[in-house]
Amino acid sequence: MVAGKIENFPALAGEVDGSGLIQLMRDQLKGYNLRVVAADVKEANLRARPFSIVCSNGSAWETHSVIVATGAAARRLPLASEEKYWGKGISACAVCDGALPIFRNKPLAVIGGGDTAAESALHLTRFASKVYLIHRGDRLRASKIMQHRVQNTPGIEVLWDRTVAEFFGSELLEGLRLKSATTGDIRELEVCGAFEAIGHLPNTAFLSNQLGLDESGHIRCEPGTTATSVEGVFAAGDIVDKRYRQAVTASGGGCMAAMDAERWLMEKRLL
Ligand code: NDP
Repeated sequence: MVAGKIENFPALAGEVDGSGLIQLMRDQLKGYNLRVVAADVKEANLRARPFSIVCSNGSAWETHSVIVATGAAARRLPLASEEKYWGKGISACAVCDGALPIFRNKPLAVIGGGDTAAESALHLTRFASKVYLIHRGDRLRASKIMQHRVQNTPGIEVLWDRTVAEFFGSELLEGLRLKSATTGDIRELEVCGAFEAIGHLPNTAFLSNQLGLDESGHIRCEPGTTATSVEGVFAAGDIVDKRYRQAVTASGGGCMAAMDAERWLMEKRLL
């Protein structure tokens, strides 16, 4: 939903963003016997069959098979000033928002030290006057090749050993107060944009540990399939994938999950 212009989805031409793509998907469903229910799932019981799904609007559903595709949310810094400037200079997606006019030819910051942070910093050099990569440690967690690129790109300066103590500005973000992780001293950095790249949290809370997860909290699937640890439950998209995280790869995963679910229902003579 929140992606900016989508450029790598085959056959999708023109200025289509995440919400535009979803509208196209909804339009495509017309004419099929499919009911779309807009509701938050509060809990799922996958221990008894048929499974049951309970929504926050009070509706409840029983089903033989489930595809979980609830995605992952960008991790955010727990600061009141971050809330204040969220969407007013702070974003968690450099690839989606980096090209916005408010960031053009301005100094920008990326927070984090992993591959996403490195990739974001490199991407932003296309638009920014300067990119600061702010990392709380003294070495990047990003892969060697990404570290090499970051350190050899003239438009990027890495600020080591720094955490964000506060975001400041007026209507829009104007800068960050950075705290040294070792000495505690504070310095101000003037930037017009800050991109948080501190990881993602898969949206699995409603599952209450009923499905097997990997060490980063993503749903673990049988390699090469969308089958989870519970027979009849399949998973697709960013809740499984920490590497590609693209609309097109998630859609492909959704297709795989639908085929796996259909095949499983047929095998069990439930369809
Ligand atoms: P990571 O978990 O790898 O990195 C998160 C970074 O954010 C770490 O450097 C961490 O610091 C830092 N961090 C976490 N919490 C805070 C905080 N509260 N304050 C300040 N800094 C914080 O996440 P990524 O999204 O970068 O990567 C996830 C996975 O996706 C990885 O496996 C990665 O390799 C992969 N990926 C691959 C890409 C590619 O191949 N091109 C592109 C993007 C992602 P610290 O290091 O100190 O823990």
